[in-house]
Amino acid sequence: MEILRGEGVSSGIAFGIIHFSGKERSHAEKRIVEDWQGETVRYEKAREKATGELEKLYAQTLEKLGEENAQLFEIHRMMLEDPDFSGCITEMIRKEHVNAECAVEAAAHRFSDLFSSMEDEYMQGRAADVKDISHRLLRILENGSDETAGPEKQQGAVILAGDDFTPSETAQLDTTHVCALLTQEGSRNSHTAIFARTMGIPAVIGLGELLQPQLEGMDCIADGFTGEVLLSPTAETKAAYLEKQQKELEHRHGLEAYRNRESITKEGRRLPVCANIGGPRDLAAALKNGAEGVGLFRSEFLYLERPDFPSEEEQFRAYREAASAMEGKRVVIRTLDIGADKQAEYFHLPKEENPALGMRAIRLCLTRPEIFRTQLRALCRASAFGKIAVMFPMITSLDELRRAKALTQNIQKELAAEHIPFDEKMELGIMIETPAAAIISDLLAKEADFFSIGTNDLIQYTLAADRQNRSISSFCDPHHEAVMRLIRLTCKHARENKIWVGVCGELAADPSLTTEFLSLGIDELSVAPPSILPIRAAVCESGPLPLQPPT
Ligand code: PEP
Ligand code: MG
Repeated sequence: MEILRGEGVSSGIAFGIIHFSGKERSHAEKRIVEDWQGETVRYEKAREKATGELEKLYAQTLEKLGEENAQLFEIHRMMLEDPDFSGCITEMIRKEHVNAECAVEAAAHRFSDLFSSMEDEYMQGRAADVKDISHRLLRILENGSDETAGPEKQQGAVILAGDDFTPSETAQLDTTHVCALLTQEGSRNSHTAIFARTMGIPAVIGLGELLQPQLEGMDCIADGFTGEVLLSPTAETKAAYLEKQQKELEHRHGLEAYRNRESITKEGRRLPVCANIGGPRDLAAALKNGAEGVGLFRSEFLYLERPDFPSEEEQFRAYREAASAMEGKRVVIRTLDIGADKQAEYFHLPKEENPALGMRAIRLCLTRPEIFRTQLRALCRASAFGKIAVMFPMITSLDELRRAKALTQNIQKELAAEHIPFDEKMELGIMIETPAAAIISDLLAKEADFFSIGTNDLIQYTLAADRQNRSISSFCDPHHEAVMRLIRLTCKHARENKIWVGVCGELAADPSLTTEFLSLGIDELSVAPPSILPIRAAVCESGPLPLQPPT
């Protein structure tokens, strides 16, 4: 048995088969195929194979997990049989002489957009199913007709491997099959690691050259605690790791006692622990872990999972869903933070030498106000359905805050004129994630309704250490005194100006800082859903606090 060693960035033990994700990365390439009849036959064969896979999955799931869980595969099979869906694909092949992959992808976009735009929530949910069946078809088409070429490998528990994953790749992962992530590169604060923690799946990064494509299909155990990956483990090793997994489950079970408790210290100080989410699909995990609100909704993930801009209506539905699900608890939605590592092709952002210091987040929104307007309208409209607060990312100056606020207020006037309801008291706050914002937080606090400290970027910009770059991680101490001073300064200015201040970067989930955050007068911590209970436990069990909060 061979052991690979990397860095565990999302805890847990997973058992599965290694699968390299390379092929799922890019869009299907468009090719002109003269023999359109042959291409149609190729598509039909792929469809038959997909149907066979789904029938098998249905039978297996029915036996193991019952009808309720198996039904999804039956729905997928029926969708594959649907003459409209298949007709759309074969017609495109016939009329446009394009390859089957391209036609499948185009039909999938068309149908998933159609479902997404429907009023009925059940029908909206079918959009994800269309994507799922098209991924199945594409995988079969790309792997050829060879039975052993791989589809089975992706069923059951898959440990997904790659050099690294972009945020849009992680956002599209099918977490019903993927039980762990392994990467050659990556870093603790990269969005892959954040995503894994949000979904509660183990992740080991930085495996470098050890993670070779030859490992495809190999049975392995990924240990997200130690960063070890055990290849072809013996029955004995598996048994030992099953025990370790069981212990972890018992530990988590012990934390259940905190699920329905408020986050209050023994001295009676309240410090709510909220959830960081990437979209409505994370709401279930937030609720399951007893989130006292959503402290960060990374809205850019709504833009990353698609080929074109999400419409106002689609965004409105996602924001409304979050607001309604949290039943009056605050939901802080961060406006589009695209750019740097979070890229979507259709924005056509220019290539930059230093994208983390470039056209990202609020800079992009203020430069292209038509994109910002659509999002702000959706946010303001959704604010009528719960307690939404809007947060602007990457602020470095008062002028940026003023311009973002002015655009929001214009939208609110517009909605009032159209008699569309919205919450007039919706809070408008900012992320403190640049040293500039922390340093002028006294000025910003006079015009923002709240602050939320984004420690991931604050650390990167303060220490001049790229959060994506693993090779410099030893130079990047997340508890660096410079970072802590900026956090303290921000808290002081928030308190002096009587606005609330939260922490939504990954440091919020670091239990060694919980007491310090309490003594600084932090009002809210927001963490990935699986970290809610451990941090609530840290708040509830924290000892006496210093009488005078340090300034
Ligand atoms: C942060 O920078 O700390 C933050 C919460 O935002 P993101 O990780 O999405 O950049
Ligand atoms: Mg950030």
